Amino acid sequence: MAVAETKKWLKIGEVARQLNIAVETIRMYEREGIFLAEKTASGQRVYNEADVQWLRCIRQLIKVKGLNIEGIRRLLALIPCWAMKPCTPDERENCPAYLTGERPCWMDKAQLAGNCTTENCRACTVYQAAINCTNIKLLLHQSQGRQV
Ligand code: SF4
Repeated sequence: MAVAETKKWLKIGEVARQLNIAVETIRMYEREGIFLAEKTASGQRVYNEADVQWLRCIRQLIKVKGLNIEGIRRLLALIPCWAMKPCTPDERENCPAYLTGERPCWMDKAQLAGNCTTENCRACTVYQAAINCTNIKLLLHQSQGRQV
């Protein structure tokens, strides 16, 4: 996806300084599937305010709530993407995100059907809902007593 207004975007080093974390930590969150970075036409990763907020939320979930990466993945998997899209019954029956619910749908993109195969996950309502810290804290509250 082309990044049109570069002045609104931050580079990874600037985000790392804002959050007082290592650049490698941000890269690791992306590798682990809990964060999707925007890329310029030349492939450089850039970050907007919503990304910074989500990264800050990830840090809180780890440092304050004691979650690990796997726990955050499982929380994200609780977002009912099949209802939000919405998917047809046939699509649900063949969708790993619906059937297993162990990790966020965008991590299984290659195995998904319908418009998930072509849609830009960063722009999708499911990802945008998932990276809202209020939604995640609500899910965390609802899942208390369950293993996440
Ligand atoms: S487009 Fe991506 S984020 Fe949206 S429901 Fe499909 S896999 Fe999930």
